[in-house]
Amino acid sequence: MTIHTPQANDVAAKTVLVRVDYNVPLKEGGGFWQIADDQRIKASIKTIEFLVENKAKIILMSHLGRPKSTKDKKFSLKPVADYLKYQLKLDIKFAPDCIGQVAQTAAQALKPSQILLLENLRFHAEEKQNDKNFASQLASLAQVYINEAFSNSHRAHASMVGVPALLPHFAGFALKNEVENLKNLMISPKRPFVVVIGGAKISDKVEAVKNLSRLADIILVGGGVANNFLKADGIEVHKSFLQDVSSDLNKKNIDYVKVADKLMTKNRTEKILKDGYIPLPKILYPTDVIAAKPAVMANKNPNVPAVEETQLIDLYKDYKDTPDDEDLMYLDIGPKTIRLYQEVIMQAGTIFWNGPMGVFEKNVFSRGTSEIARTIAKSGAMTVLGGGDTIAAIKKFGLNDRYDYVSAAGGASLDLLAGKKLPGLEGVKRI
Ligand code: AMP
Repeated sequence: MTIHTPQANDVAAKTVLVRVDYNVPLKEGGGFWQIADDQRIKASIKTIEFLVENKAKIILMSHLGRPKSTKDKKFSLKPVADYLKYQLKLDIKFAPDCIGQVAQTAAQALKPSQILLLENLRFHAEEKQNDKNFASQLASLAQVYINEAFSNSHRAHASMVGVPALLPHFAGFALKNEVENLKNLMISPKRPFVVVIGGAKISDKVEAVKNLSRLADIILVGGGVANNFLKADGIEVHKSFLQDVSSDLNKKNIDYVKVADKLMTKNRTEKILKDGYIPLPKILYPTDVIAAKPAVMANKNPNVPAVEETQLIDLYKDYKDTPDDEDLMYLDIGPKTIRLYQEVIMQAGTIFWNGPMGVFEKNVFSRGTSEIARTIAKSGAMTVLGGGDTIAAIKKFGLNDRYDYVSAAGGASLDLLAGKKLPGLEGVKRI
């Protein structure tokens, strides 16, 4: 079973319903909603252009945010239609509902090579419920379905699985490219294969880390995720962010410190980097951190706290008895850890990175993330990055075009790397 992109004769002169992911950040300016980041819109352009060239009638459908009611206009896709029309100069119309008479009439009025964007799918609760009737109303608008929404493919929603069950279906060009890039990591990564994991929460990454720990040569852990490993190693983390049993309300039965402990025990075997000389355990976590007290973190200004209000802590060196430390939070990896991680990264053949090394939004805690981002950029390895915060970080440091592949799909890419089946991909697979 594999996924196929369409050939010209699959779509020529047909009405094609494309599930895109235009769940883009919007900002208000001058009384209008504007697109703050168009990466997801741009990703769909190759498929749209292919359909335009082949004189298809093109219907685009997407969700945006988590609207509670249709009256909540800040979740309307109209600003995206305007963006496609005025910025990207596409011949596009907008239908103020995705089903019903409005959508039917707008779809029937389409001429070859014209585009119609339907209003937010999630204005109907049936989208998330994968309601059969809702799916068949969407499917009735077109003759062919294309999934160009990889970042939503981990969700079994009506537009992802219900509609392709009713129509001839294909994968979009960007979706196929994304899946292949991620799968290549797992099939034949150039070695050493180094995985860099950070961010606040371990829960959404742990399955990917488990799966990747079988494939990777070294896993470098930073960010809040590192606190789980430190705690498992018997290091006091005080008031640091720590996702443990009590902080994860949805997955009550999972103790993430125990999970980290298990991963460490399983991967304790010493590995020698192929072209290097340093014997290392497979999972590395910080030996020093930059810390501060919660009170000085409360200020939203990125320049607060000042360096003087932070502390460098050597975690494995006579740290335990330092007075006045119950209140500390570990907020970035320290200089010794940065140096070690840089040495490993510079020897890598392949690097996958998801999650910042510290609270990079605050300037005094951004050094770990910026140093690691720069080192990955100049490493000479095949580099693949994923996740919203990782992308925000590389943009902040002006490094966004310095990597081989940057995936805007957080949850879907992690699920794929965890070896899970993605419902949206299953929906467009064929024998
Ligand atoms: P996630 O969505 O789980 O990848 O988390 C991303 C967020 O993790 C970013 O906004 C960072 O500020 C935050 N973060 C990174 N390191 C830490 C840390 N040591 N403590 C608390 N938050 C962190």
